[in-house]
Amino acid sequence: MKQESGQALQLLRETFGYDSFRTSQEEVISTLIQGGDALVLMPTGGGKSLCYQIPALVRSGVAIVVSPLIALMQDQVAALRQVGVRAAALNSMLDADQAQQIKRELLGGELDLLYVAPERLMTPGFQNLLMDVSIALFAIDEAHCVSQWGHDFRPEYIQLSALHQQFPDVPRVALTATADAPTRKEIIERLGLEKAQQFINSFDRPNIRYRVAANSSNARQQLLRFIKLDYPGEAGIVYCLSRRRVDETARWLAEQEVNALPYHAGLSKEDRAANQERFLREDAVVIVATIAFGMGIDKPDVRFVVHLNLPKSLEAYYQETGRAGRDGLPAEALLFYGLQDIVTLRSFLNISNADEAHKRIEAQKLERMLGYCELTSCRRQALLAYFGDQMNEPCGNCDTCLNPPETWNATVSAQKALSCVHRTGQRFGVSYLVDVLLGKSNDRIQRFGHDQISTYGIGDELNATQWRGLYRQLIARGLLDVDPEGHGGLRLSDACRPVLKGEHTLELRKEQKPERKATKKPKPAYNGAHAELWDALRSRRTELAREQEVPPYVIFHDATLMEMMEYRPQTLQQMERISGVGQKKLDAYGEVFLQVLAGYEGD
Ligand code: ADP
Ligand code: ZN
Repeated sequence: MKQESGQALQLLRETFGYDSFRTSQEEVISTLIQGGDALVLMPTGGGKSLCYQIPALVRSGVAIVVSPLIALMQDQVAALRQVGVRAAALNSMLDADQAQQIKRELLGGELDLLYVAPERLMTPGFQNLLMDVSIALFAIDEAHCVSQWGHDFRPEYIQLSALHQQFPDVPRVALTATADAPTRKEIIERLGLEKAQQFINSFDRPNIRYRVAANSSNARQQLLRFIKLDYPGEAGIVYCLSRRRVDETARWLAEQEVNALPYHAGLSKEDRAANQERFLREDAVVIVATIAFGMGIDKPDVRFVVHLNLPKSLEAYYQETGRAGRDGLPAEALLFYGLQDIVTLRSFLNISNADEAHKRIEAQKLERMLGYCELTSCRRQALLAYFGDQMNEPCGNCDTCLNPPETWNATVSAQKALSCVHRTGQRFGVSYLVDVLLGKSNDRIQRFGHDQISTYGIGDELNATQWRGLYRQLIARGLLDVDPEGHGGLRLSDACRPVLKGEHTLELRKEQKPERKATKKPKPAYNGAHAELWDALRSRRTELAREQEVPPYVIFHDATLMEMMEYRPQTLQQMERISGVGQKKLDAYGEVFLQVLAGYEGD
């Protein structure tokens, strides 16, 4: 056994080029090597792949990796081949000859790892094939896809329970980055992993900075400044709710000379594939997308994820923002959030055809999402608490930690706002209510006689933006409901009574002015003074990637190039010590990158 764990460490160093194991990796690996089952929860970027890749190399036979997404398989296989591991993927993209070739390699014992889609794995043909080979282990990636309550449910995953009956002696490992306690339970039940060792790691992604900004009229300009000033030359994702908004935003950004591309289900298959490909293969593409984009995007150097609309739940939000910074380098998640989002999502819920139980769950999820937006305390603490992870100290790397919001006693103003809803008959939207509070005179107000009511013109302590902000917070806190017809009319909810009666005081966050200076960006990805060398290293990498038709990060990650900049190796021996440079890559690219570095000596 000692020898085996020694072997694992040796593979980590020589093949993958890393110094030491990360949390849990070593334990998972040794469990599998010894033939045990494992359930692994690790945040995105935590290093799940090595947990099965190394045992695949230590144990005899081929490891079968079940993965839901073809694009992801291809990149994993490309990355493994770069380090000299015999990997292949069997999927619908292959023609008959290619598939035949892979089957021959499989039967000939020439593969260390084979990636397959779940629907193929369970076909009788493939099961028969497996009877004739020696199997090192089964790895079930994205195991939360087996959960029927989750957002990524895949019916094919359900059948994977049969693996255990068919191959009782082959160890299995299920891996996921998104599983709260109920989902975890479901994974165990459905995959028959009752005896598996569980490795539950914190969900925290400390390198991601979380920020929420008011979705004011100049959100676009804010977005542009964010991309151009904070993340020039970097890759990012901008999520919008509708296809139209995706198209508009992508076009507008492109006009402002951002390398932005749209992605949504309304585009042709070819356009979608082409845009995704450019995002993966070029260094500085910003993809503007509906939520349809991202699942299975393994790109490690996504530096920011922006939401221009409120996500439906914290689960969705956490998963989408989790696509930033997989490489562990500083990254940012920025959410724009406004009154209109709440009204839209609330009315969606009201008019949806789902059954009551489902609606209630969805409504609760939205509440939690809104609560998150209105937080005055650490966002990371709240996020982790939601996923059952406790964090004792505020994180110091979210907007509320970096720039603590001021609060004010909003009780009296809230009473005015609520009673204005009451006096006008509980059917008007925010703009109208604000006009009444501010004593505006217009046709509608006069027609309804609302210039005669007691709340007319009593609101000069706040301006229109502040009143809107107050209404948003009242809705977010559930003191007001949105009408079920979807016109945006507001109604009092039962929860508002204590405030109206003065039994309950309300502390709310002060609206921050949109022009307020943004917090300083996280540590830059590279030192500005060495920008030229950085560009030179990256363009060399792009050339190599083009030649081999793989994404640049398959050659070297940004983190590896940054270490080269920091340590400036001058010999192959020094180069070998850089994290991410294993034997095979040293042979293939060592000299090439030494040359680039030599051109900048003394910089
Ligand atoms: P996950 O699948 O959990 O999102 P990956 O397996 O893709 O994460 O790993 C994330 C990144 O971390 C990859 O670039 C991987 O090469 C790197 N990595 C994994 N384990 C280690 C380690 N022990 N030391 C250094 N880097 C590692
Ligand atoms: Zn914080």
